[in-house]
Amino acid sequence: MRGNRRANTRPEMAVRRALHRAGFRYRVDFGIRTDAGLIHVDIAFPRQRLAVFVDGCFWHSCPAHGRRPASNPKYWDAKLRRNIERDARNGVSLAESGWDVLRIWEHVPAPEAVRRVALALAEGA
Ligand SMILES: [Zn+2]
Repeated sequence: MRGNRRANTRPEMAVRRALHRAGFRYRVDFGIRTDAGLIHVDIAFPRQRLAVFVDGCFWHSCPAHGRRPASNPKYWDAKLRRNIERDARNGVSLAESGWDVLRIWEHVPAPEAVRRVALALAEGA
């Protein structure tokens, strides 16, 4: 179920480094078993059951930067739509398994991402 995602993308690394610097400890590429199968989470806080995804603007169709390539529009429409559907499905499956899900666009600056994670952890505490 990795789909198009590549682990260790540059924005994801930046968020991970910033989190680590801020004192957060987490698991990377953490597999969570759900009724819908195994879901890999970019950054996981298992104790607090918080799943963080750093979503690429292209692959996950960010409203600000998610553009469709000019060639093969049908192919890309279908492919990118499947990604959106999979994100939604995974979100539901994780929630049903008792996890909170936080999705952060890759265009969000790392310090802001850290702020959002800290907020989510505080809310879930
Ligand atoms: Zn974006």
